[in-house]
Amino acid sequence: MGEPAGLTTRTLPRSVQILVAGGGPVGLACAVELGRRGVGCLVVEPRTTVSRARPRCKTINVRSMQHLRRWGIAGQLRERSPLSPDWSTDAVFCTALAGRELSRFTGILGLVPDGDRFPELGQQAPQYVLEELLRDVVRELPACQLSTGYTVTGVEQDDAGVRVTVTGRDGRTAVVAADYLIGCDGPRSVVRDQIGAAYAGGTALRPNFGLVFTAPDLWRHVRHGPAVHYWIINSEAPALMGPIDLHGTWWFIAFGVDQETGEKEAARLIDAAAGVASGAVVRSTDPWTARMQIADRMRRGRVFLAGDAAHLNPPFGGHGLNTGLGDAVDLGWKLAAGLDGWGGPALLDSYQAERRPIQERVIREATANMAVTSPELLADNLDAGDAAGMRARHAAAERIQQAKRPEFHSLDLVLGVRIDRSPVIAAGPGTAALLPHTWLAPGRSLYDELGEGFTLLVRRPGGGGSIEQAARTRGVPLRVVEMPGTNGVALTLVRPDQYVAWAGDREPADSLTLIDRIRGAGA
Ligand SMILES: Cc1cc2nc3c(=O)[nH]c(=O)nc-3n(C[C@H](O)[C@H](O)[C@H](O)COP(=O)(O)OP(=O)(O)OC[C@H]3O[C@@H](n4cnc5c(N)ncnc54)[C@H](O)[C@@H]3O)c2cc1C
Repeated sequence: MGEPAGLTTRTLPRSVQILVAGGGPVGLACAVELGRRGVGCLVVEPRTTVSRARPRCKTINVRSMQHLRRWGIAGQLRERSPLSPDWSTDAVFCTALAGRELSRFTGILGLVPDGDRFPELGQQAPQYVLEELLRDVVRELPACQLSTGYTVTGVEQDDAGVRVTVTGRDGRTAVVAADYLIGCDGPRSVVRDQIGAAYAGGTALRPNFGLVFTAPDLWRHVRHGPAVHYWIINSEAPALMGPIDLHGTWWFIAFGVDQETGEKEAARLIDAAAGVASGAVVRSTDPWTARMQIADRMRRGRVFLAGDAAHLNPPFGGHGLNTGLGDAVDLGWKLAAGLDGWGGPALLDSYQAERRPIQERVIREATANMAVTSPELLADNLDAGDAAGMRARHAAAERIQQAKRPEFHSLDLVLGVRIDRSPVIAAGPGTAALLPHTWLAPGRSLYDELGEGFTLLVRRPGGGGSIEQAARTRGVPLRVVEMPGTNGVALTLVRPDQYVAWAGDREPADSLTLIDRIRGAGA
């Protein structure tokens, strides 16, 4: 675009390897994954600052924390987070903050260690804390540019590339040429529309009213000790709430409350949930309705969708953003491999093949979590001081334990997801699982030994020579790591995203065929 000097669009490059539409958490994560690999990346984002009004995601799960560890920023997220994992690992169910306890779960959401199972605990942090950190990381990556105040408004593509129309706040436009475009522009994705994709799925019937309030004295009235979630089972205000920090800032979700009622009755709802006159001051509001939707395609040609632009799930269990980060990592290393010359066409095809079953499972499990929330747990006599009250609370506790356990102890979903039917996995019939984690020494994780490309774990020195040679022939980056102490198979080939691509006790008959399959250039 020949553009006169002085226009806001002047600061945009004319061409870039990857353009990321949307600098929410998923778009920023794409840029981190790509930028660390030296891929030139432009993130186009309308919001000049990260809004603190809508904390939304609070649960950064252990899998996402593994990615942050690999990126070298897990510690920074913890430092910036207002609640540390050792503050509490509990979810409490009660009739009010100052009311009776019904039941509780401890060690929830990956906030406690589980043997060797993962190297990083989960972290409770408002979404804006993660977004601010990722913005800082992207700004520091030499290969990346974050351009705020711009919106993607048009997409055209052919075999050679994508032309993305970007509009500044003054309404002026520029066209940026890119090798690939990733649409991370959230639920109302322009990119999704532009590639002719559409969400399929449903919307929950119940409105919910989210808000943030401050009430510095409220802790004095909390009868249940520290918790990250307080589920309020009380017919005046069936709700879910928790601390954002320890200085009196809280997030609050009133179930079944529409925007009009919520705006009018916020103070009453908070006081009913607290069980005392809380003196709360509402700082921001965020009405939302759960959606169970997935785009009918995640790719057209050189354009991909990731995160909420591609799939939406109810927030119960804390999976939406985390699943989007998984998309970003999967797509990021694969696009980088293609641009680096060693990734074949099946590698990009594998993005949808590998991610879609995971997204569908997340939607299913999050929908199941939504089936029982505070309104469904209401019952007579929960607050009664007599025998009827004890019976009601006993029955409620049983129901809570049975219905909500999978939501709080979901490591099988978070870490156990298998990649089925992938065209770029050689282990088993196209099925792969995460490399089992182990500690090599205090603070030193097996995952810390893995390379940016593939890693071949060998039990004996000199093992896997033909695989190493085949990788070299095809230009596939491969680090060989000797792990003499491990009891597993003799050779384990691990992908950049910590999934096992192939494992065996002997080198394969044809290592070139193996390497071609995992780099997406197989027959
Ligand atoms: C109440 C609630 C609680 C939640 N809790 C959790 C939780 O605990 N754990 C969890 O994992 N998830 C949670 N989520 C889900 C999480 O908030 C989303 O999954 C997450 O924000 C998705 O990130 P994203 O980057 O894909 O999309 P978004 O966060 O929507 O970001 C999209 C970005 O694109 C930008 N954009 C929009 N249009 C354009 C355009 N045309 N061009 C360029 N940029 C554009 C937007 O400004 C925005 O910054 C929760 C959601 C809700 C509602």
